[in-house]
Amino acid sequence: MREFDGHELVLFGHDAGTGLRAIIAIHSTALGPAAGGCRVWPYATTAEAVADVLRLSRGMSYKNAMAELPFGGGKAVILGDSHRMKNARLFEAFGRLVDSLGGRYITAEDVGTTTQDMADVARATRYVSGLGAAPGEAGGDPGPKTALGVYLGIRAAVEFRLGRKELQGLRVAVQGVGGVGHHLCGLLAADGAELFVADVQQAAVQKVCEKYPARPVAVDEVLSLEVDVLAPCALGGILDARSIPRLRARIVAGAANNQLAQGEDGTALQQAEVLYAPDYVINAGGIISVSREYHGGSEAQVIADIQRIPARLTEIFERARRENRTTNAVADQMARERLARRTA
Ligand code: NAD
Repeated sequence: MREFDGHELVLFGHDAGTGLRAIIAIHSTALGPAAGGCRVWPYATTAEAVADVLRLSRGMSYKNAMAELPFGGGKAVILGDSHRMKNARLFEAFGRLVDSLGGRYITAEDVGTTTQDMADVARATRYVSGLGAAPGEAGGDPGPKTALGVYLGIRAAVEFRLGRKELQGLRVAVQGVGGVGHHLCGLLAADGAELFVADVQQAAVQKVCEKYPARPVAVDEVLSLEVDVLAPCALGGILDARSIPRLRARIVAGAANNQLAQGEDGTALQQAEVLYAPDYVINAGGIISVSREYHGGSEAQVIADIQRIPARLTEIFERARRENRTTNAVADQMARERLARRTA
């Protein structure tokens, strides 16, 4: 398969009692046990699920390496519709599958799974994170932590691309105001940024606009608004040959995973002089929280780790400019270098 990239292990699990069908992929354990969330998704075919878990697990190797976490890259997918099939027994069965790997893979929540699901997983294995947290301890909902990293990353991108240290009066469009986007709006609004928000769920838009001075915009307009920063916080694959020529933002910096439909779309952004903050570098706040939680760290340590994201981005921006390369190519290379140093 095209997505296969020397993965260490791909495990198919089936549990007759609960109907669980899951795949765990471990891309690399060079930097530590493979960590990455568990996604529940109604894949049309098993091949599609395998392709997704291969791609996502490699993405976690890169994300964890760039965040300087003591973890490798892994991911799990459960085949099915999260609204119809989820129950405690299913997640316990998934927990047994995770446990069978003896700690080579550590799971957490992702699209289609929640903190509660992870509590069910935790009945069958200790190799799970993303559970609740007591005040002052690392853990809990990773969304606000991701939002903090994206906010600090936007500040770094604004300074690099626009030469401005403050966000006051800057125009920022946020696509998707769910768990991450909503919190991001709060942080940007506190700095006096002018916000434009779009979401397919009107209630989510309304909630943000009632709380902060933000203007609602149509879902099909948000990508082509005349703004300084576009922050994609909804779906992946939104930057492609159709959307890039319509962009009028000078910076793209947001939480969504896999924002570039293809690696080459990074070249189109570079040619259009749009500064792109590589998604897995800027959105690492959540996995940083999950990682600290797993090792029993504090909330203060999580915040300190997240505060290192902007410097990492600036290093990527500078290297890309110096070498006349795309920021995504530079980030991928830096991640691969970190992995190779440990495997050598
Ligand atoms: P979420 O599901 O809470 O929010 C996503 C929001 O986007 C929803 O309100 C949804 O209605 C909206 N949306 C969906 N399609 C849309 C469209 N076409 N146009 C506009 N809005 C649309 O998810 P989240 O936890 O906020 O995560 C947002 C993105 O960030 C996802 O891509 C996720 O994979 C990524 N991410 C999240 C975290 C985290 O800690 N939660 C960490 C890293 C990356």
